[in-house]
Amino acid sequence: MKTQTKAVVIGGGIAGCSTLYHLTQEGWTDVVLVERNELTSGTTWHSAAQVTNFGMNQTMVGLKTHSINLYKELRDDPDYPVSYNHGDGGIRLASTEAQMDGYRHFASMARGMDVEFEILDAEECARRHPLISTDNLLGGLWDANDGDIDPASLCQALARRARKAGAEVYRNTPVTGLTQLKDDSWIVHTDKGDIACEVVINACGYRVNEVGAMMGVHHPVASMEHQYMVTEDIPAIVESDKRMPLLRCPISDYYCRQEKNGLLVGFYEQDCKTWGMDGIDPHFVNALCPDDLDRVMDVLEGAFERMPCLMDVGIKNIVNGPITYTIDGAPLVGPIPGKRNAFCIIGLRAGLGEGGGHGWMLAQQIVHGEACYDTWCIDPRRFTGHTNVELTALKSIEDYQNEFRFHFPNEHRPAGRGAKTTPLTPIFKAEGAEFAVVNGWERVEYMKPDSDFHVTYGFKFDESYPLVAHEVAAVQNGVGICEVNGFNRFEITGEDRHSFLDRMICGRVTKKDGRVGLGYLLNDHGMLKAEATVANLPATDRGPARVWYGSAAAAEFHDMDWLQMHIGANEEVQIKSLTNDQTILVIAGPKARDVISAVSRDDWSKEAFPWLSARECFIGFAPATVLGVSFSGELAYEIHVPNASLYAAYTALREAGEAHGMKIFGALAVDSMRLEKGFLHWKADILTEFDPFETGLDRFVKMDKGDFVGRDALLERKTPAKRLVTLHVDHDSAAAHGGASVMFGREVVGTVTSGEWGHRTGMNLAYAFVVPEFANIGMVVELDLCGTSVAAQVIAPSPYNPDYSLMRG
Ligand SMILES: Cc1cc2nc3c(=O)[nH]c(=O)nc-3n(C[C@H](O)[C@H](O)[C@H](O)COP(=O)(O)OP(=O)(O)OC[C@H]3O[C@@H](n4cnc5c(N)ncnc54)[C@H](O)[C@@H]3O)c2cc1C
Repeated sequence: MKTQTKAVVIGGGIAGCSTLYHLTQEGWTDVVLVERNELTSGTTWHSAAQVTNFGMNQTMVGLKTHSINLYKELRDDPDYPVSYNHGDGGIRLASTEAQMDGYRHFASMARGMDVEFEILDAEECARRHPLISTDNLLGGLWDANDGDIDPASLCQALARRARKAGAEVYRNTPVTGLTQLKDDSWIVHTDKGDIACEVVINACGYRVNEVGAMMGVHHPVASMEHQYMVTEDIPAIVESDKRMPLLRCPISDYYCRQEKNGLLVGFYEQDCKTWGMDGIDPHFVNALCPDDLDRVMDVLEGAFERMPCLMDVGIKNIVNGPITYTIDGAPLVGPIPGKRNAFCIIGLRAGLGEGGGHGWMLAQQIVHGEACYDTWCIDPRRFTGHTNVELTALKSIEDYQNEFRFHFPNEHRPAGRGAKTTPLTPIFKAEGAEFAVVNGWERVEYMKPDSDFHVTYGFKFDESYPLVAHEVAAVQNGVGICEVNGFNRFEITGEDRHSFLDRMICGRVTKKDGRVGLGYLLNDHGMLKAEATVANLPATDRGPARVWYGSAAAAEFHDMDWLQMHIGANEEVQIKSLTNDQTILVIAGPKARDVISAVSRDDWSKEAFPWLSARECFIGFAPATVLGVSFSGELAYEIHVPNASLYAAYTALREAGEAHGMKIFGALAVDSMRLEKGFLHWKADILTEFDPFETGLDRFVKMDKGDFVGRDALLERKTPAKRLVTLHVDHDSAAAHGGASVMFGREVVGTVTSGEWGHRTGMNLAYAFVVPEFANIGMVVELDLCGTSVAAQVIAPSPYNPDYSLMRG
């Protein structure tokens, strides 16, 4: 066994084998995999191992395409062919128009990744799958690439290829401890000896937290018991000259594929069970949980109704095994928050289908710092601290119960709510707020007219539309108040804070006390990594001279990692997160100045406090730090208040606002207004797949200012692949949702990143990345909005108040 290597992958299921193989493909060949038992002896060996191309965003579709192409290559290996039934095709069924709309949207999105799904009516579903009835069936989505693979031979093939490239695999070698050295390298302790390495990767499936504990971290991953049954031969299948397509059913929560001459039916029962919450028997190896078909009777009945042939056939065997889940259903693939040189590929609930792609994404991140797709949807840092095992289990149960029922736009499900709140949450609730969940935070989405008010989830404008219009009008014509909790806020102190930030940000950042600037951070490839408002606060009785770095709520761990890893050995910089300590109250609208003047002794005139100013003050008797910035495009003040004083500040502002008819506005109103102003959302419109020029942020890049992270790579980048444009969409019944394809004739020329109705302009607006030939103002393209072709014209950004005079006051 080696005692020194570059990377150690811990765990030999599909996650570990795929990572090992892809590390060798990305150029790291001195790598090792250690497995406590035999390869695939965790969950992988008993997987139903279906491999679909279907995903709900382009990163997932792209990485699944990679899996499929890789598996086809392994199937065609003349020496060690892997058994892979590729191309049986698969149908996702639907019984409601809203589900069908979703499929149409996902088909539009996948087209941008060169993947074609077909939308079928009920009769066509039955024609392609002769064993199903069309009762209570509206139609479905057809994935021609669907199939299934033999998990054991897949992992063996990946390990064999990795070994051939130089990697080593040590079976029956449990990792017993992990020690990080001062230089951030690791010692992996095993029962056969120690291995020193630069990088460790946790790929331990349901034992993820045993190995997590060895490095002092807790991963938000929980396991559920999951069962499938395999039937005896079915005569119609025996007689059929082609294999049956796969089925996935959100109506009765099962999947089904052909297994030999019978069917394999897997269940997502409502009466589901978590597994291993109190620890896992160390001898649970190549093992199964006791089967329990009674628990899945509800699902089985639905499957019988859809496939009556199941009622006449015996059950050959039942498999019940642990399957891992996370808070939002997607796995955790990437850097482990707060750790250096430590990565994970965990929480895979569809690891056979996705594993090829996830290993590819992870290996690219480890070797090159970033993958070819934006990996935020699988980034382990997207949950920040509130996700203990109880919350994860609650969300896992909810997710399991809804396995094939995708989230509709703006749908926030009930499990595990209230994880992060402020003293104002119950007040807003009492006033009729509907809440959205943003990284665990309960944020007002809009104000309901009465407690019985509910929207109908779907892809069209819903019943909240007039309410949002009302909130926007209140902001535009008078003044509104909005709580932005969880906004990421770092306090950066130390002598070198300015030079440090100057190196991190690609533009010129103000160093002046009392001034605020907006900056963008690039990665080493010159692509967009982060967006931050930077406010300079002088030394006062509240603290030393400091910079407040603000970014999206979900960015806390991500940005902290990125900043921390760039502090030079001799640089005097300290970074402290205030995210959980401070909350923002935004007041916006032409009367905002009157309101703030009524509750604070300071001079808030345009001359004394111009746009982009920062000031410490009191709102009533609550200490506050006010920034003169606006996301709505109206005159606005961002009032940062310690949570202990939040109620006091809010009460003072509400009382002062009464004279001006102040209204609460929520996140949907903010989204509508920011699209009218050309403002972007991190990880919707700001992605690592594009550089700042492609994203239209030229004015925030100063190539001549000296060195900054990403500058060299940015200099090397020549022609833009895409450009971000603002679109005026000629459609009044639905927004253009992120992912929708931008078409020119039959050609896909771009992808929508976000879209909303602009209530002040009366325009349906969207942002999209399009190929440069289609980025000129005036260009007319079409959008595929849930299967409907809709004209859209490229317009200049910020159609509302284009000279920005209102926000400047
Ligand atoms: C019944 C069932 C049906 C499924 N059907 C499908 C499907 O149709 N399609 C699909 O894509 N997915 C399916 N899945 C999910 C899929 O099987 C899993 O996502 C996948 O197998 C997880 O692989 P993994 O490598 O993450 O974990 P595992 O396969 O559990 O591998 C983890 C490995 O880490 C090792 N390990 C743990 N601790 C240590 C240690 N201390 N030292 C060294 N090694 C260690 C373990 O021994 C194990 O081999 C199904 C799952 C179940 C239970």
